[in-house]
Amino acid sequence: MPALQLRLRTTCSTCGHTIPLVSAHLPIACPACDAASPVDARAFSWVARERVTERGATEGTTLLGVAEPSDVKCAICGAVAAEEAIERGLVRSELRCGCGNVITVRKVPDGIDRNGWWSALVGETSREKPAASATPVAFECPECGGALQVDGTTRTPTCTSCNTRVHLPDALWRALRPAPNAEPFYLWVRGDRSDGWEARRSRALFVSLTVAGTGTALAVVAGIAATASGYGAGTGFSDVELFFSVLLVSFLAAGVLNVLLSPKHHLT
Ligand SMILES: [Zn+2]
Ligand SMILES: [Zn+2]
Ligand SMILES: [Zn+2]
Repeated sequence: MPALQLRLRTTCSTCGHTIPLVSAHLPIACPACDAASPVDARAFSWVARERVTERGATEGTTLLGVAEPSDVKCAICGAVAAEEAIERGLVRSELRCGCGNVITVRKVPDGIDRNGWWSALVGETSREKPAASATPVAFECPECGGALQVDGTTRTPTCTSCNTRVHLPDALWRALRPAPNAEPFYLWVRGDRSDGWEARRSRALFVSLTVAGTGTALAVVAGIAATASGYGAGTGFSDVELFFSVLLVSFLAAGVLNVLLSPKHHLT
């Protein structure tokens, strides 16, 4: 399962509306008030490192949600996208599911994944997707009463009769630009990279467990030897303390080695 399924949202800093993120396209416009959200590539770079949580992706950022290891799945029929299909999709910018659903695929922009580890963003909903009711609707200018044709391209169209910028009411705006369904999208990584990650992870675990095991054995031997030889008698440093000192040092070394040898990303 070499992908992270992203279910993200942010809160509009202007009107407080919850904005579900259907893509990593920036900037993000609030579907309620059209204001640009302060979510930037930096917030996404934290998501790419799996630092997004229900309580916030970064220090003081506005990006919330869940990044879960998962297969890439079709949002319509749930079919799992094969690696080769995603590779082909990267070339064509889309992959077609057997059910007819078209899933977007694109290279991850540099700002979002600074380590260049993820291979693609899959299943984003296009911001430019026209609303269901994209046919222009008649609206009366509140200033001059002139007839306006509005189509959801902007919340503040300019009246063609009196040149006033008109602010479309909530109900009309929502009808013209329905909020897209909050479908998850994916950060996908090539299988060979993912396998390399698994191999590095196992190696790191093996080395640290070996160090910890050897340390424990040494601690036991040192403890027994110290008891037998009467080590530390009168010095205030007992065999028990020697045992725990060796144990502590070896576990610290094992922990440090594990952190140093482990790959930066966490896929499982
Ligand atoms: Zn807003
Ligand atoms: Zn499908
Ligand atoms: Zn007008």
